[in-house]
Amino acid sequence: MTARRTTLKALAASLALGLAFGTTVANAQDKGLVGVAMPTKSSTRWISDGNSMVAALAAKGYKADLQYAEDDIPNQLAQIENMITKGAKVLVIAAIDGTTLTNVLQKAADKGIKIISYDRLIVGSKNVDYYATFDNFQVGVLQAQSLEKALGLKEGKGPFNIELFGGSADDNNAFFFYDGAMSVLDPYIKSGKLVVRSKQTGMQKVATLRWDGQVAQARMENLLSAYYGKDKVHAVLSPYDGLSIGIISALKGVGYGGAGQPMPFVSGQDAEVPSVKSIIRKEQYSTIFKDTRELAKVTANMVDAVMSGKQPEINDTKTYNNKVKVVPSYLLKPVAVDLSNYKQVLIGSGYIKEEQLK
Ligand code: BGC
Repeated sequence: MTARRTTLKALAASLALGLAFGTTVANAQDKGLVGVAMPTKSSTRWISDGNSMVAALAAKGYKADLQYAEDDIPNQLAQIENMITKGAKVLVIAAIDGTTLTNVLQKAADKGIKIISYDRLIVGSKNVDYYATFDNFQVGVLQAQSLEKALGLKEGKGPFNIELFGGSADDNNAFFFYDGAMSVLDPYIKSGKLVVRSKQTGMQKVATLRWDGQVAQARMENLLSAYYGKDKVHAVLSPYDGLSIGIISALKGVGYGGAGQPMPFVSGQDAEVPSVKSIIRKEQYSTIFKDTRELAKVTANMVDAVMSGKQPEINDTKTYNNKVKVVPSYLLKPVAVDLSNYKQVLIGSGYIKEEQLK
């Protein structure tokens, strides 16, 4: 083996080790430390995000300090404080609660640290330099369009019963998903082709704190016992795979998906392996694929641009007002996935390996 090969092997091994333990990864170029604050490991999408961020930063010569806060706000604050103390030059933050970071971000800004909001918009702070995310309104549109297609609403079928679930109200994205979905569903609700028997509409009523699947399951159980005695529910708008799993458990608990009682069409988001398996079993109907590898690349490019004193590439300067300023953003495109295209989209792109679905 040549010396060069040996070095490359060693580099790959140290990178793999870093990824495995979620720790600091060094690169020969060493252009500086970047703090990467992720919300939780309880959902695989954030694990993919974290790993892809570390790899994308390493490829550009940056060390990453990757931290997960297990959905605990004080924990995330302490982790960000720590990144500042360690000398991070840029902070990449996927906030648990987008409203809680104002003070710590001021501290960072006072030290000249640049701040990139990752996937979720940080609100109420002027110290958010850039935002890398997906077209979140479009995510909601795609979720609702999948239900529209499944029910045949465009072809005039109906009326159908639907129940609505929203994401966590401390996550700005949740409102975009809901509004996007309602832009498609509302006309059918108005015309009577879709009926929300519980009458629970609007984020105030349908939000699910911390995106917690158990909370969604409990709410679905309550809805079923209060509003669906002999009437059946035909579709459920769910904004995230982790909620869909809870919702589907509640449905199964009262016999849906069994003989003579078809499973309602349930949407989702993130193309997480358990939900893709559920789609294959014909329980969950659809999900939304957001390629977190691409999001990490876009974000690493932003980091590299700000560190080189250049203007990062952005493609939206209007949509994301964080109540203090409109944050220059780069929006990636989400893709709707169901049984008809999961192989091509998820396996074909290498995002999920076929063995993982066995
Ligand atoms: C993300 C979604 C995710 C949700 C729950 C949102 O901010 O954009 O992809 O499903 O958080 O983790």
